[in-house]
Amino acid sequence: MAQPTTRNYYKILGITQKTNKADIKKKYRELAKKYHPDTNSGSKTAEDKFKIISEAYDVLSNAKKRKAYDRERSYRKKSPPRPRSQSDYTSGYEREPGGNRQGYEEPFAQEPEPVDPDMPTSGFDLQFMIDVPLPIVALGGTIPYTYEKYVQCEECEGTGTCGSDECPQCQGKQLVVRSVTLDVKIPPGVADQYTLSILKEGGAGRNGGPPGALYLKICTQPHPRFKRVKNDIIREVTISSKLAEEGGPLEVETLDGTTTIQVEEATLVGEELRVPGEGSAISWGKKRGNLIIKFNIEDD
Ligand SMILES: [Zn+2]
Repeated sequence: MAQPTTRNYYKILGITQKTNKADIKKKYRELAKKYHPDTNSGSKTAEDKFKIISEAYDVLSNAKKRKAYDRERSYRKKSPPRPRSQSDYTSGYEREPGGNRQGYEEPFAQEPEPVDPDMPTSGFDLQFMIDVPLPIVALGGTIPYTYEKYVQCEECEGTGTCGSDECPQCQGKQLVVRSVTLDVKIPPGVADQYTLSILKEGGAGRNGGPPGALYLKICTQPHPRFKRVKNDIIREVTISSKLAEEGGPLEVETLDGTTTIQVEEATLVGEELRVPGEGSAISWGKKRGNLIIKFNIEDD
């Protein structure tokens, strides 16, 4: 249905809500005749009026449409539409924390309130990339990470003052930039480009405010021999043509040690051998993927 109308169809037809169906029809016919375009030689006003009369009759002569129309009208009476005025906007703003009313009543009259220098403020969040060797990404571990951040000034213990003077170390800022080293725990089998969130290791806060967070995006360092494909680790191994022909045991390097595999008879170049449980960690180290050995064969 179209937009609810604000027109009073009863008034348009000159009837009341109590007028019976037959009388409504009678009234409509009278008016339609009066304003019909044919009898008004194309008068625009008459044409518009005729349309409105027809619209009113269409609604009021149809029980279902009339019911909906009456219901709509009674709602409107109970809650008259309020014009969206400036006071609506300001009352909206008043409900916001801090009671910020700027922008509507006096758009340019108010300066932003000065920040209280003694108010606790949180430290900055920091975001960096961390290069992690493939074996640590695959199996987890801890690596040291060095970065710069704001820390509390040691000279004034974060007060910004020494006696009655401004602290010469931090110039009253309470904080100084320092290089720090953190041991970062890498979860086993973490995805490349995953961002670790380390709470409280960002910049220090002021006036007792909490420190920010440190976000480290993991960048897997390429490995000279291993490649990671999801949970599997792929490694190319070059064997002699004799071993390829006859088959036999071969010790190969794994991510965290060595293992002995059995080369099959008549192995061809590019053939693969799957070593279960020697791949990358799965489900935070509960399981491991495969190590996939890809054979190269030496020329004689
Ligand atoms: Zn200081």
